[in-house]
Parts: sequence; C-alpha cells; structure tokens
Amino acid sequence: MFAGFYDEIHEEFREVVREFVTREVTPHYPGWESAHMIERSMWLAAAENGLLGLAVQEEHGGMGLGDYRFRMILDEELARAGALAVSLALHLHDDWVLPALLKFGTPEQQTAWLPRFMDGSFVSSVAFTEPGAGSDLRAVRTKAVKNDDGGWTLDGQKTFIGNGISGDGALVLARTDGSDVRQRGAEDSFSLFLVEKQDNPGYQPGRQLEKMGFTASDTAELFFAGVQIPAANLIGEAGRGLEYAKAILPQGRLGIATSAAAITAEVLRQTRDYVAQRETFGQLVSEHQNTRFQLAELQVGLEATERYVAAAVAGFNAGELDLVGASKAKLWASEQAKSSVDACLQLHGGYGYILDYPVAQAYLAVRLLTIFGGTSEILKETIAAELR
Ligand SMILES: Cc1cc2nc3c(=O)[nH]c(=O)nc-3n(C[C@H](O)[C@H](O)[C@H](O)COP(=O)(O)OP(=O)(O)OC[C@H]3O[C@@H](n4cnc5c(N)ncnc54)[C@H](O)[C@@H]3O)c2cc1C
Repeated sequence: MFAGFYDEIHEEFREVVREFVTREVTPHYPGWESAHMIERSMWLAAAENGLLGLAVQEEHGGMGLGDYRFRMILDEELARAGALAVSLALHLHDDWVLPALLKFGTPEQQTAWLPRFMDGSFVSSVAFTEPGAGSDLRAVRTKAVKNDDGGWTLDGQKTFIGNGISGDGALVLARTDGSDVRQRGAEDSFSLFLVEKQDNPGYQPGRQLEKMGFTASDTAELFFAGVQIPAANLIGEAGRGLEYAKAILPQGRLGIATSAAAITAEVLRQTRDYVAQRETFGQLVSEHQNTRFQLAELQVGLEATERYVAAAVAGFNAGELDLVGASKAKLWASEQAKSSVDACLQLHGGYGYILDYPVAQAYLAVRLLTIFGGTSEILKETIAAELR
C-alpha cells in the first residue's frame, strides 16, 4: 500500500508476519502445492504467532486487532512469498466464518468456540454454495429439521468449499422452514449453523476439486446425510440465516478486495524487475516505449485501486462499510487485478506462461476473485440497486 497508510505498529506486526511466512510457509509451500492441501502445521504456527482470529476481543483471549490494516499485512506478505492459497484459506476462516460468531454468536458460543478458532484446532469452512445455488442463495436446498431435543438433523450437499477436506467444520447455510424448495419472498426460510465434522459420520467431504489457481489449498464438495447438530450450534436465531449471511458479506468482500490489491502490487513489482533485466533488440524490455507506457498505466491503476480500497478499509474500521461499499471495492479491485496481472504476464513474454513464474500463478489465481464471494455481475446488481 502507499506510503503513510500503515503506522509503525503495523510495520512491527509485519516483521512477525514476515518471519512466520519465511519459516512456516515458504519451505513447505511446494509440498502443499503437490498435495493440494495446506498442512495443519501452518494453522498451528499461525496460531502460535497470534495470526488467527486477529479481531477476537481480549476478553476471549484474542488481541482485539479489529483494524483491518493488520489483516492486510498478511495478504501482502503472503503475496510477496507467492503463497496465495494460504491467503485464501485464512480469509475463509477469519473473514467469513469468524465474523458470524463475533457478530451473532451468543456469549456461550463465543466462549466455547473462539479459543478453537485462534489455536488452530478448529479450521473452518464457509458452506453456502450448492450445485444449484451460488449467486442465488435463496435456491439453497440443504435442509435442517428440528429434533424433539432441540437439536437439528442436516441433509444436503454443498460445493466449492474451501478447507472442505482439511478443515474441522463449516458454517452452513441451510433451509429450516420445512420446505424443500424456494418459497416466494421468504426471507426467514434459512438458518446458519456451525457444524463439526468430528464424531459426525454423516458429514462427508466429497471430491477434491482441481482448481486453476490457488492450487495449494483444498476445495471440495461436502455431503450431509443425517448430520446431528446440537441446539447450541445454531448461530443466532432460526430463520435469520440469510440476514446473517448478508451481514458478513461486507467483510468477506473487503478481504477479496484487499487480496486483489496486494496481488496486483506484488505482480507489478515483479514485472518491473523482470523487464529491467530482460533484453530484446539490444535494449532492455523496460526501455521500449510500449513497456514504459504500460507500466505507467499499471502504476496509475494500482494507485487508484489502493486509494479506493483504503477508503473501504477506513469505512470498515469505523464500522461503516456496508454491502454496497464492500461490493464496489471488490468489483473494482478484482477486475483491476485481472486486467493488470494479464498485462504483466504479457510483459514477461513466454516466461509469463510458465508456471514456475509467479506471474503465471497469479494470473490463474486472480481469475477467481471476480467470481467467488459474489460475481462481478451480482456486485453490479447490488450497486445498481442503490442507484435507482
Ligand atoms: C475456487 C472456488 C472457491 C470457492 N469457495 C467457496 C467457499 O469456500 N464457500 C462457498 O460457499 N462458496 C465458494 N465458492 C462459490 C462461489 O462463491 C460461487 O461460485 C459464486 O458465488 C458463483 O456462483 P455459481 O458458481 O453458482 O455461478 P452462477 O450463480 O450459476 O452464475 C453463472 C453466471 O451467471 C451470472 N449470473 C447469475 N445470476 C445473475 C444475475 N441475476 N444477473 C446477471 N448475471 C447473473 C453470474 O455472474 C455468472 O457469470 C467458490 C467458488 C470457487 C470457484
């Protein structure tokens, strides 16, 4: 990010993160790439360094670092190390699942779960999407039926679930109105549950999905067959799941926007280095007029993105970032990342197409950012609705 965005305290925090990445991520990353799975050791080391659940308040044993700039340092350092899949996995845990617990969990739930979120013993997934319900979450068919003892029985299927195989449980959006399909206008048809995999034989991860990018992390189908959920694992009140899901979207989308900005900045830095040492026609590639113009445009694009994302982060820190604001930040930053990384790849020539080069990995990774957590088209619908 631009000079002056971070304070000294953030830079001190960066030292901890950089050390963690150098020691606990970089040496292991090729192995995780081959296995398409991040080992638990990463989560445990992150926990040891206080890097999980940054926003958890001190009374629950956390550091209460609600200032999102701390979170961004993780994105930046992981982008610098080319460990993009770790960034994605951490975002799901910290920016999708944790906020649901912090915002809507009862004090008892927070006491029971927050320590596990922070110590690496409960790696979480967000399980909203289904084969027939992605953009349109009202089409969710996974169903939870209340038992006589107040608990719930869950049946259904989810897909594209990050940490789905390696994780310990998921924040599941399920239909709880007794119906099997969409009810017109029924905003109170859904509930959110924190569902544990352990001791729940009906909770079965399915296929590991082969992704284009972010290949060091697992993404899977999840199947629920008669999964038993204790009453205490219902988040907030029954029937308010969709409302809660919408309430956590701003943070989820902000996290995608900040990742996009971090990847864009890192790839541009690498590209400047590359063109400054590669020669063609007796000149450095950086000296061709086209390269200079391209880099100038990319720099302006990056600075615009960083300023825009910074405004969204300031809004978030002030408790004022709403769904439209976060959608705008994600739309702009993810689309910019896509076009900017594409232009950087072109400046690498054929080497840009080779997966050993970080720009090729980044190209495949950023393609996801305009899709997950709300496609660009859905974000435009959200933004346009406010313009009516
Ligand atoms: C690698 C990966 C990781 C993911 N991780 C997770 C995860 O951890 N947890 C989770 O719950 N989900 C996850 N997702 C799911 C992701 O959020 C969805 O893929 C996304 O929301 C889009 O849903 P869909 O794939 O069903 O596409 P669809 O909703 O079927 O959309 C198809 C196309 O139609 C367009 N479209 C749809 N509706 C409209 C409309 N009203 N107007 C205009 N255009 C429209 C879309 O923009 C898109 O271009 C992940 C996806 C991927 C690929």
